[in-house]
Order: sequence, then C-alpha cells, then structure tokens
Amino acid sequence: MDKVDISRITLEVTSRCTLKCALCVAFVPYVKDPKDLTYEEAKKVLEEFFKVVDSVGIFNLTGGEPFMNPDLTEIVKEVMKYHKKIRQDITLVTNGTIIPSEEFLNLLSENRSYMRLVISDYGKLSSRIEEIKETLDEKKINYRIVNFNGDNLSYGGWIDFRDHSLKCANKKERDEHSMKCMDSVGKYFNISDGEIHYCMRSFWRIKNGIIPKEKGDYVPLMDSNISIEQKKVMLMEMYHAKSVASCAYCVGHRNDVERQMPAEQL
Ligand code: SF4
Repeated sequence: MDKVDISRITLEVTSRCTLKCALCVAFVPYVKDPKDLTYEEAKKVLEEFFKVVDSVGIFNLTGGEPFMNPDLTEIVKEVMKYHKKIRQDITLVTNGTIIPSEEFLNLLSENRSYMRLVISDYGKLSSRIEEIKETLDEKKINYRIVNFNGDNLSYGGWIDFRDHSLKCANKKERDEHSMKCMDSVGKYFNISDGEIHYCMRSFWRIKNGIIPKEKGDYVPLMDSNISIEQKKVMLMEMYHAKSVASCAYCVGHRNDVERQMPAEQL
C-alpha cells in the first residue's frame, strides 16, 4: 500500500496530574487507576507505531502532567530516535507546575531544531511557570505559551465534554456534526493503552463503556494477531473516516459550542 502519513499523534505518557481540572479534555481527574507509561511500554508502542506509520507531522506527548512520569526523559529519547519520520516537531505539553530536570532541559536544548515545549498558563495554578520560562530562555529552548488565564483565552476557553448523551440520529448527521469539530478535521489521533484512537474523548467513552468498542474506531497497535499491513489499512480507514461512533455522543470541539472558564479545580 501507499506510504502511511498522518498529520499528528499524541502519546499519553501518564494519567497522573498535579491539577484536577473539572473540564480536562482527557478526563484525567476522573481516571480511577491513574498510571504512568513505563519506558519499556513506550519503547514497544513506538516500535510498533513506526512500523505502521511511515511519517507523522507532529508527535505530541501529553498526560496528565508528563513531568510526573519518572521515565519521561528516556521515553522522549526513544521518540527522538524516530525524528526523521516526524515531519515537523516533537512537542510536549506541560501545565507549568513542575520544573523539568537538568537532564531533560539539556536534551531539549541540544535538539532544539525539532523539540518544543507547550506550556499551558493557568495563572496562579501554574505555580512554577516564571522559573520555567527563565530557564528555557537561558537554554534557548523553543516553547509556546497557551493562555488559559485572564483575558484573551486561547481558543476562547474550554469546552465541557462531559455530556455523553446521544446527539445524532444517524450516520449522516454524525458526519456533518463531526466535520465541524477541529479534532476530527485535524485528525488529532492519540495513543492510549497501546491503541490508536480517533481522539481523547473517543478513547474515554470506549474505555468506560459509554459506547461499545467497535472495529474501525481504533487500531489495536499491540495486538500481535493482526499484521502490520492490516494495521496500516485500519489506520488509513480511520484517518479517512468523517467520524467515529463517539462523535454522536459528543458536543464536539466546534466553534459554535459555548466556552467555559479553563482549569476550574474539582
Ligand atoms: S466530535 Fe467529539 S468524539 Fe468526535 S472527533 Fe470531535 S471531540 Fe472527538
């Protein structure tokens, strides 16, 4: 088959966090058994992912709060081994509450041409943000601040994705609904529990039995009974799909959905 190229992927490296945001897009405060992705697990997932995928635009690492994972530096080094298959950047999203280790900062600095930190600014909650910015500037590390505090909120604020009621009567309505969602249009796929999912909301609804786990809505990356060729086909089918089952139960990441104040704590 043709080369498998996707626009972006997010690897969830932990479901632990220093904050408890009620409207977390990954539903992290509601996870019953929060855990870290270990280096060994990440190594295997990455090996399999890059057998299936020939190239990816952005490779993003997120959580929870990634710096809570003690294996993070080793995991990022492992991702960097594949940087020639990553067309743009390797990014890591943090909430500004933990100062990265010296070793991690040096890694970012030495590989600044393709490594970038994305810092969510939650005002007082991002308690170490000023120290982090100072250190990043000193070490000439690329970073971007996403403003979730005060005026001019990035993306206009957050969306409450906790309403899981059915919203679309049929596949046509579901496709039309999903084609106005930026996660669906941008194909913001994520890797969680060794599987590629359409988006974080889809993963959450499947994992928690809100919707059934159906073929076509995820790629079982670590299932050794399925060949790499089959996984490539499954991924491309999902990539070209206009929606998945979860979209019918979702308000969508749409411009016309009411925005909420970010980072309200539980
Ligand atoms: S509509 Fe909801 S489930 Fe579908 S892609 Fe958008 S955020 Fe994900």
